[in-house]
Amino acid sequence: MAGILMIFDFDKTIIDLDSDNWVVDELGATDIFKELLPTMPWNTLMDRMMTELHAQGKTIDDIAEVLKRVPIHPDVVPAIGAAHALGCDLRIVSDANTFFIETILDHLGIRECFSEIHTNPSYVEEEGRLRIFPIHDFHKSSHGCNLCPPNMCKGLVVERIQASLMSEEKNKKFIYLGDGSGDYCPSLKLGEGDFLMPRKNFPLWDLVSQNPHVVKAEIHEWSDGEELGRILLRLINTISTAENADQFLPPQSMAIPVYEALPSSASKSAMVAN
Ligand SMILES: [Mg+2]
Ligand SMILES: [Zn+2]
Repeated sequence: MAGILMIFDFDKTIIDLDSDNWVVDELGATDIFKELLPTMPWNTLMDRMMTELHAQGKTIDDIAEVLKRVPIHPDVVPAIGAAHALGCDLRIVSDANTFFIETILDHLGIRECFSEIHTNPSYVEEEGRLRIFPIHDFHKSSHGCNLCPPNMCKGLVVERIQASLMSEEKNKKFIYLGDGSGDYCPSLKLGEGDFLMPRKNFPLWDLVSQNPHVVKAEIHEWSDGEELGRILLRLINTISTAENADQFLPPQSMAIPVYEALPSSASKSAMVAN
């Protein structure tokens, strides 16, 4: 469906846990991570942790191998593939980093499903150390949003996506899926007619539940990958049905043949319902 733009958070939305914690824990660096966490921003700490792991002799291949066995619900990949096959525009907005996300998406075979990935940039230095940088350089200037961490305001990213749409795309419906408190700011940027899918009992859901009226989008909660997939495909179906009804509303003179062409299933289902 050309009229749907989906924005996925990555950690605890596409994959079932936080990729940063997963790499740190699986490579045995949890203690240093916890020790340093109170002393610097998360994004800075992740860059620092890559230096620690490199110093301990962990290679970029070790990191990639850990990423490839990240837990993911079996229904998520098919749901993403189906949404892409139906013509939806899929994007990722994540506070992880390019290396983690691309390694996992490549491994799952769904990287080509996403037209854009907005996340913290990262690259592998010559000696094999991974460097991670903020998507918003907060050393130079603040992004000015007090809801978001200094390195990334996802709301700003969503506003840029909204502003980048061509005039004929302005009526695209957004579906935003996320779990974390960093997904709250972008949720507030959604308009009426858009959809928000917060993961139930996670921080975004808690924030939305406290004051649901400030979110203009229609809210559909989900608990796991099975529910995520089911609700996502139902929303695509609902939106595309409404869109087709708008597009092909026949002029009065054409109405009769169109109705005649309808199969009798409408009356049949009415009988079943009775
Ligand atoms: Mg998340
Ligand atoms: Zn923000």
